[in-house]
Amino acid sequence: MPHPQIRHERCKGCGLCVDACPKHVIQMSRKINQQGYFYADVVNESECTGCKLCAVACPDVGIDVYGRKRGDPK
Ligand code: SF4
Ligand code: SF4
Repeated sequence: MPHPQIRHERCKGCGLCVDACPKHVIQMSRKINQQGYFYADVVNESECTGCKLCAVACPDVGIDVYGRKRGDPK
């Protein structure tokens, strides 16, 4: 199944990935990373379609998306 992987330590807490995800897979955590930012976290992984909009939106290249997109041929 497709899923995003967020490098928490790279995250600057901008929230762009949260806004970019049409499936509400990502939310901001209440925890702080070593840089002192509230980081983005995966909360709803099973809804991920693998569209990669979150990865494209991240200015800090902090998100990778793994797995096939839903609907892609096997
Ligand atoms: S790949 Fe698409 S559906 Fe999955 S978390 Fe990123 S924006 Fe959301
Ligand atoms: S877009 Fe990148 S830097 Fe911004 S909150 Fe999401 S993971 Fe963090």
